[in-house]
Amino acid sequence: MAWTLDELRRLSSDCPCGQPHHRIPVEHLRVGPGALSEAAAWIRDRFARVVLVMDDRTREAAGDELSEALTGAGVTWTACVIEPNGQGDVVADEVSVMQAFLATGPDVEALIAVGSGTLHDIARFVSAKARIPFVSVPTAPSVDGFTSAGAPLIVRGVKTTYQTQAPIAVFADTDVLEQAPKELIWAGFGDVIGKYTSLADWRFGEMAAGEPYCAYLAGLTRAALDTAVAQADGLSRGEQSAVRSLMEALMLSGLVMLLFGQSHPASGGEHHLSHDWEMAFLRSGRRQVLHGLKVAVASALVADLYRARVPDALGIAAERGLRPWASLAGRDADVKGLLASVPPGQHIRALMRRIGGPTEPSDLGIEHSLVVASLKRAHRLRNRYTMLRLLNETGAIADLR
Ligand SMILES: [Zn+2]
Ligand SMILES: [Zn+2]
Repeated sequence: MAWTLDELRRLSSDCPCGQPHHRIPVEHLRVGPGALSEAAAWIRDRFARVVLVMDDRTREAAGDELSEALTGAGVTWTACVIEPNGQGDVVADEVSVMQAFLATGPDVEALIAVGSGTLHDIARFVSAKARIPFVSVPTAPSVDGFTSAGAPLIVRGVKTTYQTQAPIAVFADTDVLEQAPKELIWAGFGDVIGKYTSLADWRFGEMAAGEPYCAYLAGLTRAALDTAVAQADGLSRGEQSAVRSLMEALMLSGLVMLLFGQSHPASGGEHHLSHDWEMAFLRSGRRQVLHGLKVAVASALVADLYRARVPDALGIAAERGLRPWASLAGRDADVKGLLASVPPGQHIRALMRRIGGPTEPSDLGIEHSLVVASLKRAHRLRNRYTMLRLLNETGAIADLR
């Protein structure tokens, strides 16, 4: 790792930008082979009774091994195996949350999330409500949200993110991660390469509307992006070192979000588009597509739109005196520099193709009409000054059909 948890924790009070950032509550972070057995020892030193939140697949991938080690260490544990919904997906909805609540008796001291982002969201929410900590044991390098405090839950068919708590420790065993289904590895890679556009949108929001920004943290997220990109060939060959570096990049991106206290560093127009697709799929009862796959596909789409249409949109904004965008008039060189940091969509697709992953909305079952509709409304999902919002507020993509 080119960074350590201690270095990152120090940034909360001592960042080169001079501003205070948020505290990182994660006390221990381990990414590497054998992390699973270390998890058991770490848990034994702190807790006498825990609940493992997992599903059938993650139980097989890591839960059984961890529970055996916990038994050996003298920790009392119970399994809460979250069941899939009618479509066959394990989702973080009110039913799954209730299942985890029912498994969490009054004497339980911690929840252990064993699995994907979804299982983490369930454990994160329930542990926070029960006022006990949770420990993260990821089974795939699938998303950068393992260390986040936000728990996106689907309640009565609507997805809302609740601010809850980050894990107190993370044990990512690369022997387990390496065995993860390739779709989950593609998704983790996709979530990171979406930072090409999220980083540009973050900076743009500062330039246009004075949104909070930290160049140092942006540099760390960029380092996570570059680390992941450098693993493309290794991932395509299934090398454990590449999987490990990808997981470290995901962890770094997630920890930067914790420090910043908001999702700006890791989420821009591409994430808003992905959220809009997710909600459309929920409404029509379709099976969900992995977050990072949508993010990568969306990032390639918005990258092309930004590069092609943002200069014109700024011209329209200046002409009409549109707030806040007209404030960028005369800063053509800055905007040009920013757009130069966004690669063509083709570059992002080529990276996904190199690891064998999907590149087009149609690969994910997202039809053209949904793509166009989402491009025209996704900017309203979050109050952020992204380039996607600029394109919509100036009418610069009104002609998209
Ligand atoms: Zn800073
Ligand atoms: Zn993401």
